[in-house]
Amino acid sequence: MTLPTSGKERRTARRTAIYYLIKAATVAPLVTDDRDGKTWACCNSTFTTHPDISRHVQSHHAAEIAALEGTYLTCPPPPTSTSDAAKQPTTTLSDFHSRRAAKGSSDPITLQCTCPPATGLVLLFYKYAPIPSPTALAAHQHSLCTSLGLAGKLRISPEGINVTLAGSTAAVEQYMDVMSKDKLLRGCALQSTDEGWEKRRELFFKPSEGCVHVFDGLSVKVVDEVCPFGVKGYIPNDLLHHEPERTAHHLAPSEFHALLTHATANPATHVVLDTRNHYETHLGHFENAVLPPIRKFSSLPAYVNANQHLFQGKTVLTYCTGGVRCEKAARWIGDHVQGVEKVVMLDGGIHNYLEWVKDVERQKQVSTEQDHVEIEDKENHVENSSSALAFTNLFKGRNYVFDARQSLAPDSSTPVTVCKFCGTTTGVYAKCARAGCHLMVTTCDACSQSEPAVFCCSACNKKHGANDEGAKPSLDHGIRWMCTCETERRERLFKEG
Ligand SMILES: [Zn+2]
Ligand SMILES: [Zn+2]
Ligand SMILES: [Zn+2]
Ligand SMILES: [Zn+2]
Ligand SMILES: [Zn+2]
Repeated sequence: MTLPTSGKERRTARRTAIYYLIKAATVAPLVTDDRDGKTWACCNSTFTTHPDISRHVQSHHAAEIAALEGTYLTCPPPPTSTSDAAKQPTTTLSDFHSRRAAKGSSDPITLQCTCPPATGLVLLFYKYAPIPSPTALAAHQHSLCTSLGLAGKLRISPEGINVTLAGSTAAVEQYMDVMSKDKLLRGCALQSTDEGWEKRRELFFKPSEGCVHVFDGLSVKVVDEVCPFGVKGYIPNDLLHHEPERTAHHLAPSEFHALLTHATANPATHVVLDTRNHYETHLGHFENAVLPPIRKFSSLPAYVNANQHLFQGKTVLTYCTGGVRCEKAARWIGDHVQGVEKVVMLDGGIHNYLEWVKDVERQKQVSTEQDHVEIEDKENHVENSSSALAFTNLFKGRNYVFDARQSLAPDSSTPVTVCKFCGTTTGVYAKCARAGCHLMVTTCDACSQSEPAVFCCSACNKKHGANDEGAKPSLDHGIRWMCTCETERRERLFKEG
């Protein structure tokens, strides 16, 4: 933790800490929209005025204030909708049920802050489990995240939760501690008293480097499905404990790697399916995988239905970013595609596969160094480490993530994409500048500097600012602009293979 650089910064951090602690103690706005009836609950007491709760927090929670102060000095709190934190709108029940962002808007894909890369951590995790009161859990998560100054996106539904959060290292570690003891994650053996808990936490929460600013604030939503698949009732089978033979088989990265190698040699009996969206698979994917040209997960069932011949009579290897989508897709494919041999999924998704790759590469480095020592010690004697040396990362390119970092990859990996303008290898996206398009275009640094604006195709470039001539009705988006890229993508949806 860095030392405060000035008294002013320290005071601001302290005020922020107190503000969030008071906000966390606010109870009334979470159950009623009546601002006049606002009360605070803390330490088994109820407080009816702001000065009362403020005095209580400052006199009884000095340790928490100090901890949070340190957090905010290390990395500033998440951006809020108004510059004055005290004017921030209070969270009401209905907020948890509304859309996260206005229609037609999209998330930022570039980082605007100047925090050093190792400032904090970003988590990515999910849990399928029956949740009796999603709204109560949403209120609890909102308080917890707010008090820790975390930003990110939480989707809470009767079938489970899907979470990605960012904050300072101290705050994120505190969040993991609290959640590991939560009854929701009981059975995951993540508590510090459980054997091997450190590795298990890493695999479950999937922490990676980043700072709180990778998200545009905190969004907690109560939704029907953890990830919208569009087909109801497809929670993983192990939750229902029936038809166990139908359960999607979870393969650890090393097992998935071995089966992938086998699948490449046996294309007649094996097929690899990427269950992510086209802009994700474009940036990186496993070799020889089927890459559906879908824009959202709920289009996957239609794509699979229209292309059943790709999967019939085969073992299907599925994967996604962190596993949450495959939990549903793998089981659905097993149930709906006739003649499928078996469906397996990559446990922990691409994220955990690439973490495993980094481990293997580190070991390879160590064994190479040991070999070197060996040669110097005993002339002509070389240790047999061919298995480690022959290792190849089967994931090509970068793993797309839904925050301002855009994508993650081991240092050893090279991009599979090229700049749309000059053809240079690049793994960086820019958004098409045409209003309402939002398609992502790979561009190199030099071209994104020199081009006045990036467009995905000439249709977007030409018609920019003109009437929406190309706007077409779409079932779920109302009237939407369809450029050449979009028209081509849609045509491919039902004409694969
Ligand atoms: Zn208290
Ligand atoms: Zn930052
Ligand atoms: Zn370029
Ligand atoms: Zn465009
Ligand atoms: Zn286009």
